Amino acid sequence: MIYAEVAVNAPLAHPRTFTYSIPSDIPVSVGYAVWAPFGPRLLQGIVFALSDYSPVPETKDIDQVIGTRPLLSYPQVELARWIAEHYVVSYFDAASLMLPPGFERKVLTFVEPNPRVPEYVFDSLPPQQQEIMTFLQEKGRTNVKDVPRIAGKGKIDSAITQLVRRKLVLKTCGIEPPKIHPRLVTYLKLAVSTDQAREAITGMEVKRAHRQSDLLQLLMGAIDPVSLPEARRELGFSSATVQALQKRGLISLDRVSVRRDPLAHRTFAAVNPPTLTRDQNEVFDAIRTAMQEHGSATTFLLHGVTGSGKTEIYLRALKEAVAQGKRAIVLVPEIALTPQIIARFAERFPARVAVLHSKLTPGEQFDEWHRIRDGNFDVVIGSRGALFAPQPDMGLIIIDEEHEWTYKQHDQQPRYHARDAAIKLAELTNAVLIMGSATPDITSYYRAQHGEHRLLQLPQRIAGGEISQMPLVEIVDLRRELREGNRSILSRSLYGSISRALAAREQVILFLNRRGTATFVQCRDCGFVMRCKRCDVSLTYHAAEDGLMCHQCNYRSRIPGICPDCSSKRIKYLGIGTQKVEEEVSAIFPGARTLRWDRDVTKGRYAHEEILERFLSHDADILIGTQMIAKGLDIPLVTIVGVINADIGLHLPDFRSSERTFQILAQVAGRAGRGTIPGKVIIQSYTPWHYAVTTASNHDYSSFYEQELHFRQQQNHPPFSRMARLVYTNTNAARCQSESQRFCRILRQEITSRGIPHTRLIGPSPAFTPRVRGKFRWHIIVCGPDPVSLFSEITIPIGWSLDIDPLNLN
Ligand code: ADP
Ligand code: ZN
Ligand code: ZN
Repeated sequence: MIYAEVAVNAPLAHPRTFTYSIPSDIPVSVGYAVWAPFGPRLLQGIVFALSDYSPVPETKDIDQVIGTRPLLSYPQVELARWIAEHYVVSYFDAASLMLPPGFERKVLTFVEPNPRVPEYVFDSLPPQQQEIMTFLQEKGRTNVKDVPRIAGKGKIDSAITQLVRRKLVLKTCGIEPPKIHPRLVTYLKLAVSTDQAREAITGMEVKRAHRQSDLLQLLMGAIDPVSLPEARRELGFSSATVQALQKRGLISLDRVSVRRDPLAHRTFAAVNPPTLTRDQNEVFDAIRTAMQEHGSATTFLLHGVTGSGKTEIYLRALKEAVAQGKRAIVLVPEIALTPQIIARFAERFPARVAVLHSKLTPGEQFDEWHRIRDGNFDVVIGSRGALFAPQPDMGLIIIDEEHEWTYKQHDQQPRYHARDAAIKLAELTNAVLIMGSATPDITSYYRAQHGEHRLLQLPQRIAGGEISQMPLVEIVDLRRELREGNRSILSRSLYGSISRALAAREQVILFLNRRGTATFVQCRDCGFVMRCKRCDVSLTYHAAEDGLMCHQCNYRSRIPGICPDCSSKRIKYLGIGTQKVEEEVSAIFPGARTLRWDRDVTKGRYAHEEILERFLSHDADILIGTQMIAKGLDIPLVTIVGVINADIGLHLPDFRSSERTFQILAQVAGRAGRGTIPGKVIIQSYTPWHYAVTTASNHDYSSFYEQELHFRQQQNHPPFSRMARLVYTNTNAARCQSESQRFCRILRQEITSRGIPHTRLIGPSPAFTPRVRGKFRWHIIVCGPDPVSLFSEITIPIGWSLDIDPLNLN
């Protein structure tokens, strides 16, 4: 007898499998998805292991397999096992990361007539059952829900149950294929002759219906139908305009389905790879050698300043993998923000690149999953979840910007880190892993220093194929600007630099270390920011009420007359959003064309690329944006980068706030002077002495690393320890507190009774963001060499969420 260890889709506190026997007529191996009986129900499950021995005396049979081949490969199953055990989630939850989109669906019950039953038996049935039989014989296998509510009295369900019990009808379970919706785009065209249109336009101009006449004019000039989104981008009209024209019969609308290739809207010209520089050659040699030595995985940390040619190394490594008959997965922090790197892969490997885009429709994701599994692509590119793509013959994993926080899934289980999972996957598949960054994560660098990763360096920046200088960085003390009478958001130095750049027809990026258009109130003299007493997030200024508001808990307050910190009267200084910066900059430089890039203006599917495209083609002189512009942009004409406010991030109550600030500033600083013109970066700051600011301005990663590591060691923070964070949320404040204290006592007892070494608990306390949307949050932080072990024998009570190796302590 062969048994299967199955991870079932049931809420389980600990990773565990259940043992099932395998009927001889069902072919099952590791990685198969199955239906397994669990209590009174059937659940989906994944076969994690086979054995010829059962640890329990009684086993149930597997009901049926899903699909005709394993859904997960052996390494994927083992990766799921590792994720489940490392992050303390159920095996199924871990495995579901790798399942095809839409896999987890409700059990559908199907019924069909038993072919082995002779027809005369039916005659003796009650009329309702007879009708059902007739229906099923016509239809064949049918979803129970689709059996019409036919015939007579009595519940249809019990009639079917009786038929099933008498074995006249067979009942099976299954899942529907996902519903795949084609993507439709509306096209506009003229429905009248050009003469008639011209006449209509004249009438509109009299009535001042300019938008209607503009649109008509556009359509008159176009040979082909024009896509609605495109026309809208060009002219900026509303749907009322379209409706008005349609109603008058002047235009007609067509819905056309578009091909679902995520790269379809882009064209790529094949390009010849450049000759590698000496540094690149050295780095690539090490990687190629490791790729050719089969049998053991190697992980590389590629530390290279922005523009040092890391992407070129990725491309070469991929070519090597392909030459060996292998495939690759490339992770990028956020697909929409990295169109350039994707374009470079697509150019070098035409038609061999799959992009897993979070904006793909479920249908597209489903298509893509299957095409990947069938081996259609040399490389799969995507954000953290792409690591779990069913890419066969893995030989290479690349993580670009490995320090980015988006690689950690923090808002839902499993709270995994794609970097750590990638290290495991590389080990399981004997693949080579390259983690690239200009500002490596402190822990990654620490591991490399201690031999866990091989450190590769690209210390020089390349531009136009030649080694070029890192941009010059100047730090401006904002308090001094003010003391000396400059009240503008632009320091004198930044103002001067922008003026010169504009005069020379060069481009400028202004970076704001925050999101959105909202404003917060800051003391102009000391930089103090007004925060919500309940949520400890900065309060937003609302002009309508001339008051402050917390966007997490709706707390409202007035603006104080003097700064609570330094008693300055200049407290009512409104910190700025991108919109405000744009307004001010336009006022200061009326001739300059500005372009804004933040979450508010990039809701659309390709908006990022469009903005980038416009800036690249010098459609604008000044790009103003938030965090996103710190990512991998490569814009040759940018010579000035201004950081409007460097230190907002430093105020976050998190031991990683310095690291985060350093990373962002260093990345932004790398945006200037990517072309042949040397660049300059100006960082405006209220804390110009802070080591995160000074080291970033010197492009000095090692100094930052040394100081930060020293600080971490003193505090015994990662990488000198590991953390686990437990968060409890409840609408009742008192309950929150008492439950946290109760569970904390249990944890404390567990640590003592099991003698878990060097493990301490921090808290319980209200979380740094103690209240979110009306729910109170308390947390406990476990700090020690192996916090996971604490949870091996404890069940985490309902209401708690566990985050192993958390990145976010707010
Ligand atoms: P990174 O990924 O480290 O930011 P890139 O690979 O994007 O660096 O390289 C920066 C720029 O230099 C890109 O425009 C790239 O095309 C170019 N480049 C990279 N390697 C070479 C090389 N060996 N010769 C010429 N140009 C190169
Ligand atoms: Zn609040
Ligand atoms: Zn102050």
